[in-house]
This record gives sequence, structure tokens and C-alpha cells, in this order.
Amino acid sequence: MGAAMAVAVDVADDRFVTHHGGCHCGAVRFEVDAPADLVVQDCNCSICSKAGFLHLIVPMARFRLLSGEPQLIDYLWNSGVARHRFCGVCGIKSFYVPRSNPDGIDVNVRCLDEGTIASITVEPFDGRNWEANADALSHLSR
Ligand SMILES: [Zn+2]
Repeated sequence: MGAAMAVAVDVADDRFVTHHGGCHCGAVRFEVDAPADLVVQDCNCSICSKAGFLHLIVPMARFRLLSGEPQLIDYLWNSGVARHRFCGVCGIKSFYVPRSNPDGIDVNVRCLDEGTIASITVEPFDGRNWEANADALSHLSR
């Protein structure tokens, strides 16, 4: 009976672990629920290739900003849909709202703390030809 009750109220998804991360100075801290074995995208578009951002895209509900909202500075360009969010203290973009998934959050796997990642599989994403390829990512925030 007790065990059955516990299962009924446990909404945690055992496919996921909670990863912690943040910017360089520590002002921005967040949690994200994702598998321990991560599949991430390495995008070759103009901004990602300069930043070295490795993309972990999740639904908004699996991301929690713990601190740093006052320090975040938004950078919008081109279509204005992507909301690039930089720490105003140290300049690191540890997460943002991607154009491909405006209903999701895109975390830079390079900004996750050690200890919860079992493996990282990097897939190339051809963001230079964004219009032809963006649909391939849209399921990641659902
Ligand atoms: Zn910072």
C-alpha cells in the first residue's frame, strides 16, 4: 500500500537526471532534467561556431533558472526569435531560447557541472542552411 502510494505521487521521470550548471562567475545558475547520456548538437552557424556552443535542447518545463535573472543580458539579431542570454558579469551564454525551439530552452553542455553526465554524443547540425534543417530539431522541445 505504502509503495503503491509512493508510485502514484512520484512524478519524476526516471529517464532523466537533474544536471546543474551556470555561467563562469556563478551569478547564473540553473537545473535541467535530461538523460545522463546526452545527445547534443554542434551547430556551424555564424554565432554558434564562434562561441563553441554545444546544444542540449529541452522543453521549457525541464529547465529551472535558480539565480542570475537580473544579470542576464539579451542579444537578438536576424529574425529576433532566438533570445541569446548572456551573463552581464562574465559574458558567458550558458543557455538561451533557440529560434528552432522557441517553446524550449537550449543549454550549453559545456556549462554543465561535472558529476551527472555519463556520456556526450555530439551530432553535427548544419545551421548555416538553417531554413532547410531547423525542422529536424523541433521535436526536442516537446
Ligand atoms: Zn557570469
